Amino acid sequence: MNFRFVGSGDSAQVPRFGCDCPACARARVLSSHRRGPCCAEVRLDGRRYLLDAGRMDLAESCEAERPAAILLTHYHADHVQGLFHLRWGTGESIPVHGPKDAQGCADLYRNAGILDFRPGLKPFRALELGGLTVTPVPLNHSKPTLGFCLDDGDARLAYLTDTLGLPGETERFLRDWAPDVVVLDATHPSTHPAPSNHNDLSLALQILERLGAPQAYLTHIGHELDAELMAGGLALPAGVEVAHDGLTL
Ligand SMILES: [Zn+2]
Ligand SMILES: [Zn+2]
Ligand SMILES: [Zn+2]
Repeated sequence: MNFRFVGSGDSAQVPRFGCDCPACARARVLSSHRRGPCCAEVRLDGRRYLLDAGRMDLAESCEAERPAAILLTHYHADHVQGLFHLRWGTGESIPVHGPKDAQGCADLYRNAGILDFRPGLKPFRALELGGLTVTPVPLNHSKPTLGFCLDDGDARLAYLTDTLGLPGETERFLRDWAPDVVVLDATHPSTHPAPSNHNDLSLALQILERLGAPQAYLTHIGHELDAELMAGGLALPAGVEVAHDGLTL
């Protein structure tokens, strides 16, 4: 499979509106340092699958290449906001798989347009999409949220955002499943006084150490962590990198 980080930022994105911290100032000048809403895409056997739909140019991107399916981790705005435009398109419907969530986001379920919502993903119950096996795993977040364990028969990648820590059952599953690559939420710097809803860097690194995957990428990065990385002095363990928008694996 070909995996691409489309967006690697938190809900505020980088630069954050109105902020003149070093990371936001740099991102305004150098577009390569901008971070859009956290989302990714997977290509396999000529098909394109989207992980989350928060990018603001989602409709344009789907016009260029219609996705075979969209997988939603959860219904927070930064992960679904692109659907509010895409739904009013025409043509064949697009399957949107997501966790069981009675609320969804705003009126998406009621006015779904071309989106074919299938909010029935069950934890640890694998879904077959072409040659891709997707096993959803529960995460710790303020809305029902699933991580996705992707297996194309050659490589295993676990995509785990948004989360604070990991539920015990998810961690046990992952240790057994033995991913080659883990993508993990690291929204805040380690100096964050009280992370809630998202990992800070030290929590993310502790999880990665316990999982022991050979390669890991941090995502859902907030501007404060970027500023701390810019200041230097943050040595990441071997095999752990900070993702950036457009990074392809
Ligand atoms: Zn988010
Ligand atoms: Zn900032
Ligand atoms: Zn969220």
